[in-house]
Amino acid sequence: MNTTADAHIPSEQSDQIAAREQVKQYLDAALEPRVHSSSKSTEQYREDIKALLKKHDAALIAHYYTSPEIQSLAEETGGCVADSLEMARFGANHSARTLIVAGVKFMGETAKILSPEKRVLMPTLEATCSLDIGCPVDTFSAFCDANPDRTVVVYANTSAAVKARADWVVTSSIAVDVVDHLDKQGEKILWAPDKHLGNYVAEKTGADVLLWDGACIVHEEFKVRGILDIKQQYPEAAILVHPESPKPVVEIADAVGSTSQLISAAKNLPHPTCIVATDQGIFYKMQQACPDKKLIIAPTAGSGATCRSCANCPWMGMNELDNLSQIFESHNLDHNEIHIDEAIRQKALIPLTRMLNFKA
Ligand code: SF4
Repeated sequence: MNTTADAHIPSEQSDQIAAREQVKQYLDAALEPRVHSSSKSTEQYREDIKALLKKHDAALIAHYYTSPEIQSLAEETGGCVADSLEMARFGANHSARTLIVAGVKFMGETAKILSPEKRVLMPTLEATCSLDIGCPVDTFSAFCDANPDRTVVVYANTSAAVKARADWVVTSSIAVDVVDHLDKQGEKILWAPDKHLGNYVAEKTGADVLLWDGACIVHEEFKVRGILDIKQQYPEAAILVHPESPKPVVEIADAVGSTSQLISAAKNLPHPTCIVATDQGIFYKMQQACPDKKLIIAPTAGSGATCRSCANCPWMGMNELDNLSQIFESHNLDHNEIHIDEAIRQKALIPLTRMLNFKA
């Protein structure tokens, strides 16, 4: 790993700290128990949803972190289960008139930015992300304005308005490649919002990176001590880590990568057991990829952990069969449909298209 990287968070960051405080309020709301009025069985829900997707010419696009019930429905109905980059690409290329995005709000927004002619619905628009909440556009724009000499690279986990302010959008699967490309052109980077991923990218590329002070509440909870305790019990295990985790956790990994890259690593590494430091929703597809391997979720309750997430994103967990089955009810559309101001959409499309073309 390159150790000459210059990644830093500026000292005057009170606005960014305030933004992170907001995350706590959203988190409390997401963790409130949800009441379900229906007594339908899982099988009834599944059949109802399949019929609705067909009737409304809709494709279900699910993220790896949603529940196994939702991921299997997406597979069985000709939709897809993927990371955020592939979700965006799949939605843009699919012929369906309506896209149902089971994930968090920025994923629905990305689908709408790329496919404005399609209706984009989500089981609930309240499903958000600590990175998105922690990077409000006004504060972020001021940060960009204060650093005009830097190329602005934002992670996909941001609002449409923040993407509209960026030069590049990246996902974790291509962040290193894009920043490396920019560094080779002599560009200095302003990175937002995930500081751990930004730090990882800076170390891998040696680029000069100015970091926004944001974090994922799920990946930030993994602790080295807890993972090494499990490793003692399973010495034959590989440790797989998503780069949204803190640096000490990344440093003990056998493989570091995006969700898709971690699934490939689980399949291709020779280890019979994998300790996995990301949201445990990934186990549905990871176990499909390597059915004979033992998968163990990395603990979040090690020394100093608060276990706010326990390797389950509370916002991803808001995608349920219940609200998915109600998505086409007309009185629900205002609460389920993604709308984006057209001027913002057009601006956000530029860095998003840059990312898709770069990958291609
Ligand atoms: S797991 Fe983390 S990065 Fe992913 S949606 Fe949840 S809070 Fe955001």
